Amino acid sequence: MNTGTIVKVSGPLVEAVGMSEANVYDVVEVSEDRLIGEIIEMRGDKASIQVYEETTGIGPGEPVYTTGMPLSVELGPGMIEGMFDGIQRPLEHLRQEAGDFLTRGVIVPSLDRKKTWDFEATAKVGDKVGQGDILGFVQETTIVKHQIMVPPGKSGTITKINSGTYHVDDTVYVLKDESGKEEEFSLMQRWPVRKGRPYARKLDPKKPLVTGQRVIDTFFPVAKGGTAAIPGPFGSGKTVIQHQLAKYSDAQIVIYVGCGERGNEMTDVLNEFPELIDPQTGESLMKRTVLIANTSNMPVAAREASIYTGITIAEYFRDMGYSVALFADSTSRWAEALREMSGRLEEMPGDEGYPAYLGSRAAEFYERAGRVISLGKEGREGALTTIGAVSPPGGDLSEPVTQATLRIVKVFWGLDYALSYARHFPAINWIESYSLYQDKMDKYFDNLEGDDFSKNRIKAMQLLQDESGLQEIVKLVGADSLSDQDQLKLEVSKMIREDFLQQNSFHEIDTYCPIDKQNQMLGTILDFYDMGLKALDAKIYMKELLNLDIREKIARMKYINNDTAAEEIKKIREELKDQVEKLIEEGGVLDA
Ligand code: ADP
Ligand code: MG
Repeated sequence: MNTGTIVKVSGPLVEAVGMSEANVYDVVEVSEDRLIGEIIEMRGDKASIQVYEETTGIGPGEPVYTTGMPLSVELGPGMIEGMFDGIQRPLEHLRQEAGDFLTRGVIVPSLDRKKTWDFEATAKVGDKVGQGDILGFVQETTIVKHQIMVPPGKSGTITKINSGTYHVDDTVYVLKDESGKEEEFSLMQRWPVRKGRPYARKLDPKKPLVTGQRVIDTFFPVAKGGTAAIPGPFGSGKTVIQHQLAKYSDAQIVIYVGCGERGNEMTDVLNEFPELIDPQTGESLMKRTVLIANTSNMPVAAREASIYTGITIAEYFRDMGYSVALFADSTSRWAEALREMSGRLEEMPGDEGYPAYLGSRAAEFYERAGRVISLGKEGREGALTTIGAVSPPGGDLSEPVTQATLRIVKVFWGLDYALSYARHFPAINWIESYSLYQDKMDKYFDNLEGDDFSKNRIKAMQLLQDESGLQEIVKLVGADSLSDQDQLKLEVSKMIREDFLQQNSFHEIDTYCPIDKQNQMLGTILDFYDMGLKALDAKIYMKELLNLDIREKIARMKYINNDTAAEEIKKIREELKDQVEKLIEEGGVLDA
């Protein structure tokens, strides 16, 4: 192990000389306390080191040990249900008490070395295997079958493999390569976090990540393997949306990265997730979840690494053939960590002090999302969907982090202070938000629901856009100046907003809305519009239309039990038709 000497300490940045044998991104151990750090810049024999722990008490003259290895994570059984910090150190303590994390310099293995796992071999001695091939599995939790795969870059003939009970680092199989050299492998592998894990090929996203959130699935869907960003000011609902998606989206594995936000939000996750039952499996949500926490009270540098640690773990499960969703809350705090390090390195600052490479770093992160065919003979299809919250100061979307993010991601859920202030939740602005997956997702939903799904959405969106324009007119000259038809438009737009788009995350039923219920609900509101236009044609007064008691039932559709919703809403639609037809008939009688 090569040793250098510290010449300067500035917060999380340490400079050391005598480091000529080290490389950028090597992990080092700083001082006799062995604080973990990573070289982020090399100049001659001088290394600038980002240290992932508090550096107080460390000073010039103390040694730095290089490991010659890049910052890596351990990938193997024991991650699910686990909670780790930004460089994958287990955070058992955080379970008891937020903020009580590891003391400095304690080098603990990421994966528990004492725990044993039952490995069932599916390959046998004599098999020729290559990178990505599955050799067997460990049933990690009741939900997650953890495939044991040949690590990237490795191949050979199996000379030993046995089913049995193993520690994560015990030798489980041996491969002999062409030159006759044997190598032992365990249940785990390592991978450098800043490098995407390889796959055979990338596919276009095709299916939606169904979230059960109406404004998302119906209006701004994200694809499995896609990317989305949620920019919004403080208190506008970024965290609630991420939690909702982590709980209810139809991803098989969830990686949740709490990045620089308050510690109590991670405690919320820890308290809530085990209680919540996954509708797909009937099991606790934690049984398919990995948590990475670098909350605001933890050292800033590990926050920079945390999103890469998270996405590397996510890619590993993707390689097994799972659909994985990664949530990062908030990438703004990540960018601030980047800015802080860049400032200490005295790099030329770009926009608002962020380094010029902010955009390329953000891209490197989001570009690791995708739907892929894995390495290996069987060519498993896996997907990694990446959803990041952004917290622009003052909600100003023109700031650098939001701009850099929006250039990369394909879905924009713009949270609006005015909406959250008016308690319209989720506060996703329906005029400004967009999804570039919409065309593809339409095909999928129309196949599922009949082609009225996309027609309904287009029609509803048109109404909402018209509403914006009409509201301007109302502001200027008052509602009375509008035609009955336009007033009906305003009424129906309000119904779309209140009875459809608004969704209460804290309501037992409303918290999750299945696709067919979403489609039925929107269809009913649009029926009201169509029937209303008919009634107006038949000279029925607006007031009578608005007084129909079916309106109350429409407003309460969201609270109908999801299991019986399809039938009940069908009845509501029939009743709506009957009521309006009756009105027209009676109105006709009055006219005569
Ligand atoms: P942010 O992360 O953007 O700062 P939060 O996600 O913590 O904001 O949301 C702030 C508050 O807004 C929540 O505590 C909750 O009261 C309310 N809220 C947000 N989204 C919803 C929702 N979908 N349903 C009900 N209340 C919500
Ligand atoms: Mg938040």
